[in-house]
Amino acid sequence: MATIPWLVDVLRAAGVQVVVEGDWLNRMRPGSFDPIGVLWHHTASTSSASNPHPALGICINGRSDLAGPLCQALVDYNGVFHVISAGRCNHAGVSGGSGPIPAGDGNTLMIGWEIDYNGVDQEMTAAQYNASIAATAAVLTRLGRDSSYARGHRETSTTGKIDPSFIDLNVMRADVAAKMAGGGTAWSSTVDNTTAGRFTASASWGVSTFSSQRYGADYRYADPVAASDPAWYRFNVPAAGNYRVEAWWPTNSGYNSATPYIVATSTGNKTVYVDQRVTGGQWRVLGTFTLPAGDANRVAVSRWSTATGLVVADAVRLTRV
Ligand SMILES: [Zn+2]
Repeated sequence: MATIPWLVDVLRAAGVQVVVEGDWLNRMRPGSFDPIGVLWHHTASTSSASNPHPALGICINGRSDLAGPLCQALVDYNGVFHVISAGRCNHAGVSGGSGPIPAGDGNTLMIGWEIDYNGVDQEMTAAQYNASIAATAAVLTRLGRDSSYARGHRETSTTGKIDPSFIDLNVMRADVAAKMAGGGTAWSSTVDNTTAGRFTASASWGVSTFSSQRYGADYRYADPVAASDPAWYRFNVPAAGNYRVEAWWPTNSGYNSATPYIVATSTGNKTVYVDQRVTGGQWRVLGTFTLPAGDANRVAVSRWSTATGLVVADAVRLTRV
């Protein structure tokens, strides 16, 4: 039976944060293991900043109906890879065949990431997504396979699995392909409301330290108004291309349920509405957009919301994909 004792080194070389979980080199299921691909899962457990890997024990030890280990690595809330096994694991069951992955024994054919989020009312965090992309690209490079060998459990399952939820698996494969082509770490830049020379807002935007979910020292807030008074984030985009745009805001029940974020793309302004009453204190993906090169105001928070509640401007991050 083959093993993948190179897994930790390959992940670390790709810039992925790794925690080695005990005797990972010898913890595995009996049976064949000759992986050609990587399979993404979600655990169905609710993770958080204060409880980043609730399913780790189950993934190591298994359940009453399924012996552990249940994956080669668990990806926690912060995007840290907890490496559990260098060998065969009970994660995939029978493969029905998907893309280049044939029908057969999924646990022989694939290396599994259990990404720790519940998949019902909790999405994968951006940290989990970015780390999983980097890890998948690195492992497929090592295996000598292209991005089509990255699959989601819902694609290979013969029993109706739904994981990983909230992920477009074709976009995932495109992001893996871009990572494999680019080699190094993708360009990324964060602008906070306090970043010198890169944030502009009128005096109508107050300064607050009220929420502990803020990014950095403080954030800005304003009442919604049917007028143009946006807070702008300026970025020096290195080259024309596709960029993932993420925003960070603190949440409060009194904040706005339909805050407009405007992205100035190569083909005009695009608006994305977010609910700032929920999912705060973390990076949230607004989407992937085509941006022109150059140093310019690129993302704005608009006050022009028809919903009630304060609109909040905290931090924005661009990452080339
Ligand atoms: Zn699964």
